[in-house]
Amino acid sequence: KPEFAFIGRSNVGKSSLVNMLTGNKNLAKTSGKPGKTQLINHFMIDDNWFMVDLPGYGFAKVSKSIKNTWEKMISDYLTNRDNLVALCVLIDSRLDPQKIDLEFITWCGQHEIPFILVFTKSDKQGKSKTFANVAKFLEAAREIFGEDPQYFITSAQTTDGKEELINFIEAEVQEYYDSLK
Ligand code: GDP
Repeated sequence: KPEFAFIGRSNVGKSSLVNMLTGNKNLAKTSGKPGKTQLINHFMIDDNWFMVDLPGYGFAKVSKSIKNTWEKMISDYLTNRDNLVALCVLIDSRLDPQKIDLEFITWCGQHEIPFILVFTKSDKQGKSKTFANVAKFLEAAREIFGEDPQYFITSAQTTDGKEELINFIEAEVQEYYDSLK
C-alpha cells in the first residue's frame, strides 16, 4: 500500500496536522517489527494508504548517540521505501527559513526522496507574514533545486489547507494503484 511520511522539527505542529488529516478517518495503528515500533509509527488510513509518522528532528538537548540513532532510523526508512509516494516535510510558517530544514531537504534531494513542503501554523500571524515566510523558504529551496518544490500552506487551528492536502494525497494514492494495473 502507498505510504505518505510526515517529518519536521520538534514542535512544528506535526501531531496537530496528522490529527487534522486523520480526524474523521478510519484509522488503525499497525505494529511493524517488534522492538522497532517506538520511533516510527504506521497508521493505516481508510484501508487504503499508510501514514508514517517519523520522529522530529532538531532537538537541541539530546545526546549525540540518540541523535545518531534517530538519524539512522530515519534514513534507513527513507532510503528503503518502494511504497513511499511522498515525504511531507513540515515547515513552521512563523519562522524565517531554518538551516536544519534546508539541510534536510537538501539531503532528500541527494537521496532522490520525493518530498513536498507543508507549511504549518499559518493562522499564527497575518497572511502577509505567512506568505513572506513561505516565499523566503521557496526562494532558498529554488537555489538548491532550481525549481519550487510542491507545497501546501496549512493551519490545524482553522483547517486551512486541509482539503487541498487531502485531495493531493488521494489523487496520488489513486495514481499509485492505477500504476499497478
Ligand atoms: P509536534 O511536536 O510537531 O507534534 O507539534 P504539535 O502538534 O504538538 O504542536 C506544537 C504546538 O503548536 C502545540 O502547542 C500546538 O497546539 C501548536 N500548534 C500546532 N499546529 C498549530 C496551528 O496550526 N495553529 C496554531 N495556532 N497552533 C498550532
